[in-house]
Amino acid sequence: MKTLEQIAAELQGYDPKALGAAQVNEFLARLVEPVTAVEDVGIFQSLGRVLARDVVSPVSVPPHDNSAMDGYAFDGAALRPDAPLALTVVGTALAGKAWQGRVGPGECVKIMTGAIMPPGLDTVVPQEFTRVEGDTVHIPAGVLQRGDNRRLLGEDLMAGRPALAAGSRIGPAACGLLASLGVATVPVLRRLRVAYFSTGDEILSIGEAPREGAVYDSNRYTVFGLLTRLGVEVLDLGVVRDEPTLLEAAFTRAAREADAIITSGGVSVGEADFTKTMMKQLGDVAFWRIAMRPGRPMAVGRISAMKLADTQREKVVFSSDFGSNHEAILFGLPGNPVAVMVTFLAFVRPALLRMMGCTACAQPLLKAHSQEALRKKPGRTEYQRGIVSTAADGTLQVRTTGNQGSGVLRSMVEANGLIVLHHDQGNVAVGDAVDVMMFDGMV
Ligand code: AMP
Ligand code: MG
Repeated sequence: MKTLEQIAAELQGYDPKALGAAQVNEFLARLVEPVTAVEDVGIFQSLGRVLARDVVSPVSVPPHDNSAMDGYAFDGAALRPDAPLALTVVGTALAGKAWQGRVGPGECVKIMTGAIMPPGLDTVVPQEFTRVEGDTVHIPAGVLQRGDNRRLLGEDLMAGRPALAAGSRIGPAACGLLASLGVATVPVLRRLRVAYFSTGDEILSIGEAPREGAVYDSNRYTVFGLLTRLGVEVLDLGVVRDEPTLLEAAFTRAAREADAIITSGGVSVGEADFTKTMMKQLGDVAFWRIAMRPGRPMAVGRISAMKLADTQREKVVFSSDFGSNHEAILFGLPGNPVAVMVTFLAFVRPALLRMMGCTACAQPLLKAHSQEALRKKPGRTEYQRGIVSTAADGTLQVRTTGNQGSGVLRSMVEANGLIVLHHDQGNVAVGDAVDVMMFDGMV
């Protein structure tokens, strides 16, 4: 396991006081490691989990050549490009009930979608292409080619080949695919456990009486939602007041029980509180100023429950998933509600996906035409809240939600994505293409 200092030495031009967004992700990718414990779960329980090993298909799907249409199956060798064909119907093949007889030259079998193709037959003429007179089916010239409307054995999946790859997150389609293979259970990585709490003496919990200068905690709720969407186990440690004993208790509990800790507040430069002091005391932590908006301050590192005062250390009991040298990864996010969500989406989410064992961690970006001129200074990454829609010509367009203040949480509610204005990018003119990160499934 590398120390923060070793990771920093590997990154070109690392400066904690001026980090680019890309460098942050590079740093985090080197800091975190995937969980290793594996458990077998049933298909319904596997939704959202990460596959620990490739799933090799025990069968071919479909298991036989079969018909893709309701119609008549015949030997396509009889087809001539410019001549109609007349065939005699000698039987019927149903889905789940194969035709057992033999089919000779000039003959065909009435066949239903999904029915096994009788031996020697390779082509299906859809019913609507034919004219039927008694036992005779007439096929006009030029409507078919040999092999049409037949699904081949193993076309979806061949027995012995990987059906799903280790490191993929199991979605609804993968659940269905597993079921189609007759697989009852799959090996998945254990769920990641993430503890979170809000800090700040001015932060009220719901139920507390409002008082001057105080605001209700919203960060715990947005973080809860973002983590739940990721499918991790959450441990909510509440609002922790700015007192060394309370902060120490929260950090050490989180370090004993969780893989990662997310805090909000108390990491900005010149912040006169105990949060930063406690992070330093209990861990190997870097305090960053990121060239981004919103977001800027962030603390990152590892927190250990064993750095407690000697008298208390004996009492530390780790969760059964961890050894006594366990350290939790710390993401100390800024306090502003929008900054919390943006830093989560830009940095924490990809890092947590990596810890969950996922191989695809980066959210894809789409291109949309800006409906507004946007002011942007090169030298920092900006994440503006955007409303993406489809323009009259069918392309994507995006406008901002208006006030982009980092405390305006309403902007995150109204937006359906973030406009990502990259580090070196300057002003955007109306009609310029910009990158957007859609919220779908994340927010
Ligand atoms: P800080 O990063 O601690 O300086 O906080 C920046 C701003 O975010 C301040 O206006 C805080 O009051 C606000 N803030 C901090 N934590 C929260 C929270 N949990 N919920 C809502 N606002 C917060
Ligand atoms: Mg504060």
